[in-house]
Order: sequence, then C-alpha cells, then structure tokens
Amino acid sequence: MIDLHLHTTASDGLLAPAALVARAAACGLKTISVTDHDTVAGVAEANDAAHRHGLRLVSGVEITAVEDDRDVHMLAYFIDLSNGPFAAFLEAQRSDRLHRVREIAGRLAALGSPIDYEPLLALAAGRPGRSIGRPQIADALVAAGRAVDRDDAFNRFLGHGAPAFVPRSGPGPETIISVVGQAGGIVSLAHPGLTEMDHIIPRLAAAGLASLEVRHSDHDPATEERYRQTAAQHGLAVSGGSDFHGDAGRRGSLLGCVTMSAGELAALETRRP
Ligand code: ZN
Ligand code: FE
Ligand code: FE
Repeated sequence: MIDLHLHTTASDGLLAPAALVARAAACGLKTISVTDHDTVAGVAEANDAAHRHGLRLVSGVEITAVEDDRDVHMLAYFIDLSNGPFAAFLEAQRSDRLHRVREIAGRLAALGSPIDYEPLLALAAGRPGRSIGRPQIADALVAAGRAVDRDDAFNRFLGHGAPAFVPRSGPGPETIISVVGQAGGIVSLAHPGLTEMDHIIPRLAAAGLASLEVRHSDHDPATEERYRQTAAQHGLAVSGGSDFHGDAGRRGSLLGCVTMSAGELAALETRRP
C-alpha cells in the first residue's frame, strides 16, 4: 500500500516523523511520503525510521502557491534534498508564513480576540524548519476559548473571507513547478476537489505539472473519477494519499485507507526530470 500525503509535527501534524512512520508500517503501508507544509524538516527522521521498518520513503513536501489571493497546495516529490536553491526557496516560504502569522494576530487583537502568538513564534524557532500557519493560530484561538475547534476558528476568523483573513502573497503555481523541477522533483496538484480551481489545470499542465492528486480523503468517488478523467485528458499522472495529520487531527481515522497503486507510482516516477 502506498500513501503519498502525510503530515508530521514538522508542520501541522500531531505525530513526530518517527512515530508517524511506525504507525504507517503498522497499518500495512509499504511506500509513503512525508509531505509537510513548506518544509522538509521531518524527512531525515522519517527516512531513518523508514529504514528501520523496511518502508520506502519518497521525499516530499506540500508547497503553498498563491493564485488569485487563494492558496493552491502543490505536492512535490522525488526532490533532491541537498539542493541549495530549493532549501532557500522553502526558507522564504516559511518566513512569509511567519510574517502572515503576525498580521493575522494583529487583526485578531483588533477584533477583540487576541491570541498569545509569542509561543507560536517560539514553536517555529524551537525546531528549525518547522512551519507555522493558520492551523496553529486556530489552536491558539481554541486555547483562548474563542473557538470550539479548528474548523470553528477557520469559519469565524481565519478562513477565506472571514474577518481575520489575511491574503497570502507568494509565488504562483508555475514558479513552484519550475523550482521543484530544478531540484529534480515533480509536482502533483494536491486535493483539486478542495482547491476548486479546475480552470488552472490546463495552464499548469502546459507549464509542466506532472500529476493530479486524484485519491484524497476529502474526495468522494465521483470527485475522484472526475479528476481521473481530467488527468487523462491532459496527459497527467495521478497520485493519492490520506493527508493524515494524526488521530485527533483532520482525517484522523484514514491512515492506510486512502492509497494509490504501484502502477500509478511507477507512472509518476517516469515524470522525473
Ligand atoms: Zn496541514
Ligand atoms: Fe493541503
Ligand atoms: Fe496536506
């Protein structure tokens, strides 16, 4: 079984990389990718653990691009982790994130719902490469009693169009495709059914996008089938994964349930530059 979309404590997941790998092995996965948001800080630890458990680890990261003020998540695979320009690129992505955290905290304070954001910044500083974003702000709102849970915090404060929403600024999807390609990797457009930007798929396919993430915990069978057809139409490979963030996190019960086939992985690999 193959799951190419997993998060750890290097971003907003709840399990440390080694613990996540142990869980993945226990539920029968054979090939996985740790795809934290804008960081590969969890990959080395995950790689050691994968060796111990006899799993194959595909290097990965979930990069946030910006299109029309909206986040577009893009999964990068097979990247050369020693590539200096790519590491610098991810570093810049994370400093954008911190900048945005400060701006959102300012808006929340102005709205009368201040959060204690120094601990968030300390969290980022305490583990080099750790990425901080709205999920951690949502947790701070919950901790401050301003929201019931993360979803509530996004609905009432942090989501697109909500009062503390701060538009992201950052590189567009084409830039991500080119930066990843220069680091020897390929890009799969993450959960297109959640991103809801189907109109950019032809453009990105022409710009070198390799794949669509057709299998995802939040795609129902009809959505999956629709993206399978879109991928075929544009000559794209397909990828899949659970987007597991930990048992108590989003998609908690789905580790090992949303997978892709060995044939699909082989086809994805042929796209490597
Ligand atoms: Zn996440
Ligand atoms: Fe995502
Ligand atoms: Fe994800």
